[in-house]
Amino acid sequence: MYFDFKIPAPIIFGVGAISVLGEKVKGFGCKKILIVTEKPIEDAGIVAYATRSLDAADIGYAIYNGVVADPHDALIDEAYAVAKREGCDGVVGIGGGSSLDAAKATSILFEKPGPAKQYINAVPIFIDTKTPLVLVPTTAGTGSECTTVAVISRPEMNGKWSVWVNSTLAIVDPELTLSVPKSVTATTGLDALAHSMEGMTTVLTNVHSDLFAVAAIEKIFKYLPICCDDPGNIEARTQMAMAANFGGLAFTCPLVHVGHALADAMSVHLHTPHGYNCALALPEAMCVIAPGSPDRIRTIAKAIGLSLTGKESPEELGKMVADAIRGLMRKVGIKTLKEMGIDRGEFLTLAADAAGNFLATLCPVKIDEPLAEKLLAGMYDNY
Ligand code: NAD
Repeated sequence: MYFDFKIPAPIIFGVGAISVLGEKVKGFGCKKILIVTEKPIEDAGIVAYATRSLDAADIGYAIYNGVVADPHDALIDEAYAVAKREGCDGVVGIGGGSSLDAAKATSILFEKPGPAKQYINAVPIFIDTKTPLVLVPTTAGTGSECTTVAVISRPEMNGKWSVWVNSTLAIVDPELTLSVPKSVTATTGLDALAHSMEGMTTVLTNVHSDLFAVAAIEKIFKYLPICCDDPGNIEARTQMAMAANFGGLAFTCPLVHVGHALADAMSVHLHTPHGYNCALALPEAMCVIAPGSPDRIRTIAKAIGLSLTGKESPEELGKMVADAIRGLMRKVGIKTLKEMGIDRGEFLTLAADAAGNFLATLCPVKIDEPLAEKLLAGMYDNY
């Protein structure tokens, strides 16, 4: 048996790391780059950290700030139109996962004819891009800066699908996450937890990814509540930025499974935040895989720091892990589906979409529509 593990691009990590952006982009041979971001991130002064560094290195830039949560394909075409008009030769994504994924997908159009939607399919394809692409996260959650996948919505098809591309560099500066509001800190941090736990339990697991997953789980249980209670705590923010990055490395090769299939159906139909959706689905995902993956679930329980006798059944371990996740969710203020005003009957209708998602096929347990409905009911009733 052999394993395949690949880190998509080098990672520069640390407080102040954004200051090297300009010199790095220059080193990639770029003269003018397209910054892909959101208006609120630009308004918050975060993009200015990047433009200061670009100015210092005498690199030109144009800004596309039209990214929205769960970016859709038409927005990618808009971003590329700006790049073409401005004569850009590289891309820098700055923001949460939505901005980074939009930047990744935009890089495709530097080399391939549009529109973008022809590359976003229910089963992802890999596009061997060469355009310099630098990814700068401003949330501690998705780990998108170190994954090959870009998740893009196809609204006319009720789909949130993926494409795989190359990237050139990730710059992770925890200082850029200091302004993230509590609710986003909580949901994005739990997204990183979902990447780590699901990455460890897909049918494509590998030994290197496991190392990052275990380290991320340990950090998230310790530091996420601190970031939520004390948002200016740079040590806790640094640990969570690292945990999110490790979470990305934990799933970029093994991918994720039924938790994300359930979460994507929620994004498409309910438009609730990605991290919220992943958090709600994670306890149910852990319980359903526990009977067939006892060693994996025990490793996860140990990483959480649960005290174990060694005599627990896989089902008991699954329940202990699920309860610990729900405890963390309560601690950081995650609302129930009922509190979000979501109707139970309507919620269960997401089963067909979740069961039909490509990611569900990566779960070690076969996910059909009745099982997906049972998991959705658990998400509603158990938290
Ligand atoms: P997001 O990018 O949608 O941002 C959430 C909110 O946080 C936005 O309102 C944004 O304005 C705000 N925000 C971001 N940074 C901020 C800062 N520093 N200060 C203040 N506000 C800030 O959310 P996200 O959870 O980071 O990304 C979710 C998206 O990423 C989803 O579309 C999901 O599918 C995708 N995703 C991609 C990967 C991947 O590997 N490519 C992995 C997981 C999720």
